[in-house]
Amino acid sequence: MSGGTGSSIGIVGAGIGGLAAAIALSREGHRVEIFEQAPAFGRVGAAITVSPNALRALDGLGVGALVREWGCRPPKRVNRAYDTGEVFSELALAAQAERDFGAPLITMHRSELLGALEESIPPGSVRFGSRLAGLDQDDDGVLLRFDDGTEHRVDAVVGADGVRSTVRQRLRADEAPAVFTGSVAFRATIPVDRVPSYDVDAFTKWWGPVPESEIVTFPIHRSRELFVFASALTSSWDEESWTREGDVDELRAAFADYHDDARELIAQCDSTLITALYDRHPLDSWTSGRVALLGDACHPMTPFMAQGAAMAIEDAVVLGRSLAGRGPDTLAAGLEVYARTRMPRASRVQLTSHSNQWLREPSDANWVYGHDIWAEQLAG
Ligand SMILES: Cc1cc2nc3c(=O)[nH]c(=O)nc-3n(C[C@H](O)[C@H](O)[C@H](O)COP(=O)(O)OP(=O)(O)OC[C@H]3O[C@@H](n4cnc5c(N)ncnc54)[C@H](O)[C@@H]3O)c2cc1C
Repeated sequence: MSGGTGSSIGIVGAGIGGLAAAIALSREGHRVEIFEQAPAFGRVGAAITVSPNALRALDGLGVGALVREWGCRPPKRVNRAYDTGEVFSELALAAQAERDFGAPLITMHRSELLGALEESIPPGSVRFGSRLAGLDQDDDGVLLRFDDGTEHRVDAVVGADGVRSTVRQRLRADEAPAVFTGSVAFRATIPVDRVPSYDVDAFTKWWGPVPESEIVTFPIHRSRELFVFASALTSSWDEESWTREGDVDELRAAFADYHDDARELIAQCDSTLITALYDRHPLDSWTSGRVALLGDACHPMTPFMAQGAAMAIEDAVVLGRSLAGRGPDTLAAGLEVYARTRMPRASRVQLTSHSNQWLREPSDANWVYGHDIWAEQLAG
């Protein structure tokens, strides 16, 4: 950690990436202000996997202990065939992951992860109800303009404003829109006492007849609930949204040809949320002068590897390291170092996630789970 350099950095978006960036940058002595369009921290979304690489990143940010305390620790990952129910491969997690990858895999509610991050951001650093409308930069800094007519000047800006990023649109006006993948994701939770014969403690992935079809289950809320994430091809689509109510009959129909164990599980889902899945190709640039993108704003990906938030957290660590000790005059150079360091790995994960074959056989876990972002050499 360095002493204060006097740089002020505006972060657009108080999601997982924006909060992690705020922690990483403030630990390096920068003054951070987070501009969030929502009126308060929301509790939307469902569950999330904090993979070993993400937890190691969080450990260095001082957040890992809370994540370990609040989350569940599946002892193993189980891969099952959708039709026969056969367990065709397993990967030991928990203590074994600690040995192999330097940290366990944790599952938790998204609001718990956000809560753990909130505990470590500088007090009063979030300005809620601030929806970014545009920005202009000059040689000395960046002027942020909000849709309520207010303006704010900072030395540099991090666009952590998610998949529909306004910052990215301002940097990349000519960019093609996101492409609908043809799949939707259903999300539901089930009290564990309703599925007594199911292995609720494991992280289980049912591999469907096509890569777009899968069911993933894992425990949340101290193993009182089982989280169900199920994706399927669809002939209709809708807007990307975290909160749309889905139709449980549609959910049941989508998995009608799955093994009895999986269908019995789906039958216990009383309600579901549904999200259309969109994809984008890796960007060839994440920065422009004093402005950089982070998280889903620059590398949105399908959820099949459960690495979107993990990559945003890794981004935050590298951002903090790249801007360490930099005053206002060298921030743009530091943002370039950040982007050059992060783009190869984030793009590889983004592309790998698209095909949904990763960890079908557990032998290739290390390049993702074993990555120590604190030890990664910064690009020269
Ligand atoms: C179904 C599903 C399951 C997933 N499961 C996992 C998982 O298990 N593990 C994992 O690592 N990842 C997972 N992901 C991916 C992960 O959720 C995302 O990658 C992660 O939330 C991205 O964080 P972010 O901070 O970049 O963006 P977001 O979480 O989208 O946050 C962006 C923030 O910016 C704010 N904002 C947007 N526009 C503006 C504006 N103009 N002005 C001000 N504020 C603005 C938004 O309100 C929001 O708070 C999953 C994704 C999906 C769809």
